Amino acid sequence: MSVSAVAADRSVCAPLPVLGRDVRVPLVTGGEVDYAALDYAASAPALQRVWDDVAAYAPYYGSVHRGAGYLSQLSTDLFENSRRTIAEFLGCRTDDQVVFTRSTTDSLNLLAAVLPQDTRVFVFETEHHASLLPWEQRGDAKGGAVTYLNAPRTPGEAVDTLEKALAAREPYGPALVCVTGASNVTGELWPVRELAAAAHAHGARIVLDAAQLAPHHPVDIAELDVDWVAFSGHKLYAPFGAGVLAGRADWLQDAEPYLAGGGASRKVSRRTDGGVDVEWHTTAARHEAGSPNVIGAYSIAAACRALTEAGFDDLVAREQALIARVRAGLAEVPEVNVLSLFGDDAPRVGVISFVVEGWNSSHFAAALSAEYGIGVRDGLFCAHPLVRTLLGSDPQTQGECGAPEAAPGEKSLNAIRVSFGAGT
Ligand code: PLP
Repeated sequence: MSVSAVAADRSVCAPLPVLGRDVRVPLVTGGEVDYAALDYAASAPALQRVWDDVAAYAPYYGSVHRGAGYLSQLSTDLFENSRRTIAEFLGCRTDDQVVFTRSTTDSLNLLAAVLPQDTRVFVFETEHHASLLPWEQRGDAKGGAVTYLNAPRTPGEAVDTLEKALAAREPYGPALVCVTGASNVTGELWPVRELAAAAHAHGARIVLDAAQLAPHHPVDIAELDVDWVAFSGHKLYAPFGAGVLAGRADWLQDAEPYLAGGGASRKVSRRTDGGVDVEWHTTAARHEAGSPNVIGAYSIAAACRALTEAGFDDLVAREQALIARVRAGLAEVPEVNVLSLFGDDAPRVGVISFVVEGWNSSHFAAALSAEYGIGVRDGLFCAHPLVRTLLGSDPQTQGECGAPEAAPGEKSLNAIRVSFGAGT
């Protein structure tokens, strides 16, 4: 079955209702069709439930932590209750903190900014740039260093590679491992529990980039035994500009605030020498200076509630059936090559990247949109080293997202990605 046929077959998955299912889009060939959103990995459509909850709250919107009025009190309660709902959704430990951020990128940059002096960071080259890049940008300034680990070809090799790198680290100071739960390129699941055990056995901590995992699978911090989890609302059906960093409080609270300003400061006084003394909060507020995004926070909590009520067992089963159908359809086309790091049998979420022999990936994606009303993504998916490895292209090749494709007869420089989830 072709991708377009799968997209058009609404019986495959009984969805959680999302916005945009009735959007009609024009085709270059004339007429129009229902839009088929197959780019959930970039931004998932809003759940109808999230939209309804936000709409119900909107008339009561008010300032958070900054007002004595009824609406301010209500908004403050909703904001703090959202934090608790998310902590519960993530299975947080009693002392964990849930910090509201703008996105996964923001959450990981926040963590990079609070690393203790001389922290060594370990990260696979296969990571999304949000997990790959913040450490050198921020960590190096504090005297730490980043160890980039080569792409493993099995989950077991990932654990071995990390074990060896951790064992070899000198000197024995603080260390952090950053790993993605599910790849935004291949959809493959990484062995998070095993990587966390390896990290802890070597005295390192671990942060889980759950941007692609949380929309598809339950993420339980305590059960996975990771130190932090980062994810984005807009990939979890809550597109209102908020994200989350949840986990251990100590590094967060021992560091300077991520942003300086109101809300993060408990007490500010002038010194006799003319300067200013500041006492910073020791709660999540320390890193949330400025008026918070209450709608964003509330919408993430609404999404957590909706997913929990729908039940991940059911959602996972439906999604796995859909993955099997899409992969079977793609396998029928000899020109299609599906990209995979861990092989066909690896457990995965609904994210599938491929190239089509003889086709420029960008043209192919544009044709899916223009001729079939199917929205996918083309490019290197903000994971340039991984996609180049999977395509077997020269690591120095300057392929970019949206850049011109390889010349005829040359290997593809970028790929096409279809992704879907609980609303598909
Ligand atoms: N990590 C992964 C695995 C992702 O797929 C993405 C986005 O695609 C990010 C991090 C960054 O998320 P955001 O753009 O919401 O910061």
